[in-house]
Amino acid sequence: MTWRPAVLSLGFNMDRDGKRRKPIWTNVVILGILLPGFALWGAYRVFTTSTSIGLWVLALAMYLFTMFGVTLGNHRYWTHRGFEARLPLQVLMAVASGMSMEGDIQQWVMNHRAHHRFADVVGKDPHSPYEYAGWRGYKGLAWAQGVWLLFAYERPPEYRLHRDLADDRLVQWQRRAFPALVVANFLVPLAFYPLYGWNAVLIAGALRTAALMTATGFVNSVCHKWGSRARDSRGHEYRADDSRNNTFVAIVAGGEGNHSWHHADPACPRHGRKIALDAEALAAGASPDRGWRPDATWHLIQLLARAGLIDKIREPKVKIYFADKQQMPNPSLLQTHLLWHIEDPEPAGADKVLVS
Ligand SMILES: [Zn+2]
Ligand SMILES: [Zn+2]
Repeated sequence: MTWRPAVLSLGFNMDRDGKRRKPIWTNVVILGILLPGFALWGAYRVFTTSTSIGLWVLALAMYLFTMFGVTLGNHRYWTHRGFEARLPLQVLMAVASGMSMEGDIQQWVMNHRAHHRFADVVGKDPHSPYEYAGWRGYKGLAWAQGVWLLFAYERPPEYRLHRDLADDRLVQWQRRAFPALVVANFLVPLAFYPLYGWNAVLIAGALRTAALMTATGFVNSVCHKWGSRARDSRGHEYRADDSRNNTFVAIVAGGEGNHSWHHADPACPRHGRKIALDAEALAAGASPDRGWRPDATWHLIQLLARAGLIDKIREPKVKIYFADKQQMPNPSLLQTHLLWHIEDPEPAGADKVLVS
């Protein structure tokens, strides 16, 4: 009966070279079946039962709490070390990020660092939308959106373990506590059962968790396909990978949708940013970035800095100049583009100003 999982997996169980992927069964059951199932039940109850304002406040508060656990904690602090955080804040972020159900900190950070290192390189990036070309490109989008979570990521041999995480006692504690934090993610809403009945668990629990998972997935899928590319002070586009700035995703994912800016300058904890253009670029007709770049996580960083919980922030530069290698896809990425028939700029153009 080996055909069954193969059919059910819609071909995702094979990589592009026809190599079999190893499913992570706990993720298949919890993230692939139970969470979407209960979230759909919650969505159904949004329309079929009466919901009070208090329930929505609870859902929003938990969405923001777990979202910042991921965006502020996992991403801008533990992965990219864009600032230093006091221990009480670290503990809070570790709890919040565990409750998001997006994996423990170590797992999240290692996957994400691999994503930056191999961004959009087929077979190496843990979650590029260019991994699968089928279904008019939507198969790759579905992969990046969340299907990748159901399979073990085969780390490229040149990729090694991260000492900073292995030596971090809080990160290692959170790894062990992760299952308990996932349970807590539903126990907190359950405490509101006397007020809101099962809607507390189904809407403020499952539906809210799935909503954040979806928003996070957008950063990996949508933000590597649709949106604008970051431009430096000379008006040069960032092209080292296919990351994009997408305002909608920036709103629902706490600023993470400013993803091209993030790839262009990963250590900077401000993702929603504007830079000043050089006089030469302006004279050549380059127009300043007038897009709206919402970044709630950056506002929170500033607030926490004022409260004394964050310091040594890597401040964003007013002017930024992309290195030559940031303006061209690397050879592995060119291979991806070849497969996808994506056109690349002429390699000569270091002094070329892109006019919009
Ligand atoms: Zn990315
Ligand atoms: Zn990142």
